[in-house]
Amino acid sequence: MGNLEKPKLLLKKYFGFDSFRPAQEKVIESILKGKDTLALMPTGAGKSVCFQIPALMFDGLTVVISPLISLMKDQVDSLNAEGIPATFLNGTLKRAEISDRIDAIIAGKYKLLYIAPERMSSYDMEKIRQNRKISMIVVDEAHCISHWGHDFRPHYADICRFVNMFFPRPVVAAFTATATPKVREDIASLLKLQNPAVHISGFDRPNLFFKVLRNIGKNEFILDYTKKHKGYSGIIYASTQKEVEKVHLFLMQNGIKAARYHAGLSDIERTRAQDDFIFDRADVIVATLAFGMGIDKSNIRYVIHYNMPKSVEGYYQEAGRAGRDGEKSECILLYSPQDVEIQKFIITAASDDYEVDPERVSVNMGLLQKMVNYCHTPGCLRHYLLSYFNDDEAKTNCGNCGNCLADTEERDITTEAQMILSCVYRIKEKAGVTYGASITADVLAGSKSVRVRNLGFQTLSTYGLMKGKSVKFIRELINTLMAMGYLGATKSEYPSLFLTDKAAKMLKEKERVICRMKIENKIPKENAKITDASYDESDETTALFEKLRKLRKEIADSQHKPAFMIFSDATLKFIASKKPRSLAEFREVQGVGEKKLAEFGETFLRAING
Ligand code: ADP
Ligand code: MG
Repeated sequence: MGNLEKPKLLLKKYFGFDSFRPAQEKVIESILKGKDTLALMPTGAGKSVCFQIPALMFDGLTVVISPLISLMKDQVDSLNAEGIPATFLNGTLKRAEISDRIDAIIAGKYKLLYIAPERMSSYDMEKIRQNRKISMIVVDEAHCISHWGHDFRPHYADICRFVNMFFPRPVVAAFTATATPKVREDIASLLKLQNPAVHISGFDRPNLFFKVLRNIGKNEFILDYTKKHKGYSGIIYASTQKEVEKVHLFLMQNGIKAARYHAGLSDIERTRAQDDFIFDRADVIVATLAFGMGIDKSNIRYVIHYNMPKSVEGYYQEAGRAGRDGEKSECILLYSPQDVEIQKFIITAASDDYEVDPERVSVNMGLLQKMVNYCHTPGCLRHYLLSYFNDDEAKTNCGNCGNCLADTEERDITTEAQMILSCVYRIKEKAGVTYGASITADVLAGSKSVRVRNLGFQTLSTYGLMKGKSVKFIRELINTLMAMGYLGATKSEYPSLFLTDKAAKMLKEKERVICRMKIENKIPKENAKITDASYDESDETTALFEKLRKLRKEIADSQHKPAFMIFSDATLKFIASKKPRSLAEFREVQGVGEKKLAEFGETFLRAING
């Protein structure tokens, strides 16, 4: 194996960490060997140090292409706070400032330069190219190059040409958290990576706790939850601007410090909302999915989906914004059947940009159904998510999600399943075509509705087979059977049901259908605080943690920086539980590099021991 002694020293010196995570070691090794590298690592895995450490070791400059201007400043500020010479060039700077920076870059004062993709072809870059050696080009958020990704950026297409302007050719390293194979192929081919080392790490986020709550009072829930987590950051995603406004108003009226963010607001309003959230002036930000890509806030403790999103990809991405610092965080989805209707409406609505394309509608309906299934699966939620991303090694029982931990009882639903499946079968047999969940439930319940009679379904042998059960109950069971893979749904606006191979096998071989039924959640009585068992959570430690949080906020405010940029929550917890008594002990804290030790060490020691 390669020699990682030097990188480790740098990791401690600048970032204050004792060791690399396994995935980081591999990526750093291949970059240091001078190989083009493509790294797919989930959010929070620590992609940044994978290129920042090699950048410190190369003799030339490392150019980092990053899609968002807002993010760029934060990233450079963070690096400077660690004592790393980094800067950025973008349109927010004045001309004179740009010239100064270019001079400093040429004089070799910086190891890292962040630029937006639009800058690659600028005169400034040409000047730098002619006067300073470039050792590496990093493409962050590399999925932006792909049409298949969710954040396509046309300028990313020019990166390859940019790279080719340099001689000798710098190492190219691309990073993304997007898992899909299509996007991955696009990155490697469109960037023309040369014989790249590809590193794919598992997509599990062990510190995230996933939970689905169905049919509960959403407002009641979020009010209770945000109150219990006062002082902690969270995002509440809603599916429309109107819904964002409604939820935001509700929280504000009930005394919760909330910001709001959606595309209907002015740039100024959005920037202010984002800043309020990043600087912890607002605990909660209520937002549409327009919010999130541009922020790197590491201490987001929860992400609540007030409405179900349109796809599992989208959900995992949005939920994944919680807990970048590796601390325990919660991802809660509040499901109600109307959410499905909202999404269908969005999918089928024509917009200014494009006509309704039947193929697109059908693809999106398919994605939506997978999301609906997530909300109804009786099995492990993490397993569901990871298998969706083709992670075959995911455990079937993570022991750390809402479904694994719920009070459940194993129920044998074989009889009900047989009734439902045979009803679906009989309907198709009689009508020659398939029908949807609602009419199937009506038939089983023995409904006297006009629709049932018009179709002649009251003569089916399965008519009234589940008489006495409510239509709602039967619908739930149908959803469960879909989530378990016994029933499939056509990919259309009004999906109709069909039996899957799994159902055929089950009926033929008389298999039993066992499902873990939640002893159904009313509102959970305690929205317990999010805590991490791996730390000493004595009252004393918790009190110290809170005290240090206040101190961190004071320092952050006085320096006009976000609190998490001073120390992460993880570092703060480490300090609170280890209670260092000297600078030497403080140096052992994970996340305290030399610069921060010198800058904040004494102040924190006084707070701990004073
Ligand atoms: P990504 O870009 O993959 O989402 P980041 O680079 O923003 O992740 O890092 C996420 C968090 O992990 C940061 O708070 C960072 O300080 C922390 N981190 C990175 N590497 C390590 C490490 N080796 N040990 C402990 N924490 C780390
Ligand atoms: Mg990153």
